[in-house]
Amino acid sequence: METKGRVVVIGSGTAGLAAARSLVSAKWDVTTIERDRVGGTCLWYGCMPKKALYNAARARRGAERAEMFGLTPAEEYDWQSVLAWKWHAQETYAGDQEANATERGIRVVRGDARFTDIERITVDGTTLPFDHAVIATGSRPVLPPVPGIELADTSIDALSYPEVPATMLVVGGGYIGMELAAVYAAFGTEITLVTSGARPLSNLDPDTSAVAVTRLARTGATICTRCRLTELGGTPGALAATFTDAEGRSHSGTWERVLVATGRAPGVDGLALDVAGVEVDSGGRIVHDGYLRTTNPAVWVAGDAAGGMMQTPVANYEGQTVAASIDSGSPRMPDYSAVPTCVFTTPQLGQAGITEAEARRQGIAVDVHTQAFEFLGAAIIEDERDGFVKLIFAEDDGRLLGAHIAGPTASDLAYAMSIAIRHGATRETLQGTIGIHPAYNEALNWAAW
Ligand SMILES: Cc1cc2nc3c(=O)[nH]c(=O)nc-3n(C[C@H](O)[C@H](O)[C@H](O)COP(=O)(O)OP(=O)(O)OC[C@H]3O[C@@H](n4cnc5c(N)ncnc54)[C@H](O)[C@@H]3O)c2cc1C
Repeated sequence: METKGRVVVIGSGTAGLAAARSLVSAKWDVTTIERDRVGGTCLWYGCMPKKALYNAARARRGAERAEMFGLTPAEEYDWQSVLAWKWHAQETYAGDQEANATERGIRVVRGDARFTDIERITVDGTTLPFDHAVIATGSRPVLPPVPGIELADTSIDALSYPEVPATMLVVGGGYIGMELAAVYAAFGTEITLVTSGARPLSNLDPDTSAVAVTRLARTGATICTRCRLTELGGTPGALAATFTDAEGRSHSGTWERVLVATGRAPGVDGLALDVAGVEVDSGGRIVHDGYLRTTNPAVWVAGDAAGGMMQTPVANYEGQTVAASIDSGSPRMPDYSAVPTCVFTTPQLGQAGITEAEARRQGIAVDVHTQAFEFLGAAIIEDERDGFVKLIFAEDDGRLLGAHIAGPTASDLAYAMSIAIRHGATRETLQGTIGIHPAYNEALNWAAW
């Protein structure tokens, strides 16, 4: 069959598969190289297993509170069954990713990819020439350079612990650390969380993150801010960790598990980018022109490897955008305005658009409208009354600039607000948009009044 040219995609995660699928349907000859399981991080080591554990943890909290709803409380759980459910959910969602790709006409090659020059990639001795290449190699955890760090677990380990640990030190107050802390706290693990920042989830609106931090603390967790891990030692199951607090005092203790979740960086090691003419900046990020085209015009980057917002839907969007650029011959500029995010803690924390602090940084005068869940029907029925929605409007024309939500269904509310922001909704628009009763979305309309 005649094709438009050869594209080699390195990585078969969300970004790589999105690019490969779009290009193969547009009649390009597409080869995808993968060294691990086809499907990537989200399916096997990220969102899906994480959300399955989150759901199990939520069910457990519900079971504990059963008496409040007139039911018999259930104290017991079987962790092996929880893990089995997680696998079942992952496998059901994923299906056979490799067969699916092959059926579409994507050639899947297994192995480690590396550039050999500006128009060729090698994988296990086979050379693949390309007209275009897409680097979609994802990201890797960044571990703090402290003695004994090799004893620590990463999120991959923590998503499959064979037993629920009695004690766990979580190093890192980002979303992965906070989410996994909330999961294990729900199953009875005694959590200590240390973060170098002034507060966990420091990229979120401080009022929303405070709700999840308070809930975590209520499980008995100890949270140490402005704290840095300095050393790890001990033996598996009895790990000794030392960290230093803001006053320079040293603290030590022993934990069954130590999870390090101190951020992720583009996973571009070993690709020999220099021989491909692909520049990397001092922070290890591939230099691109905003259109996701690298310093080699035939090489593109998408997903976590691009070093932007590391989220699955962003990876998918970037893969599709790169594919559209290649196919049309005219680069497409990705639009990241109002990308919604959600942290799956207890409760969920959703966000779309900018925070008050960001508005101030941009010199925009804002009107902030908050609606607490305290008297919201849905929240009373579920006993989830500590949440709220906060809407940020531009003072001059009432445009919705940001939405921050703490509480059940925050992910869906954030998505709804991202549509509103992208389409120029104002305070008046939300005042005139009727909600559903009794549901959390009512708070969006109430907040606008
Ligand atoms: C614990 C955790 C929880 C997360 N939860 C969420 C969430 O709830 N929602 C959300 O939106 N995002 C979440 N994310 C982020 C999300 O998983 C990533 O943003 C997304 O998977 C990135 O997709 P990608 O295609 O860029 O990379 P990946 O899916 O990582 O794919 C990259 C692929 O490239 C392969 N590869 C790398 N180098 C080479 C090479 N040299 N040769 C051959 N193959 C190679 C890798 O094996 C991998 O399969 C989570 C991440 C983690 C770690």
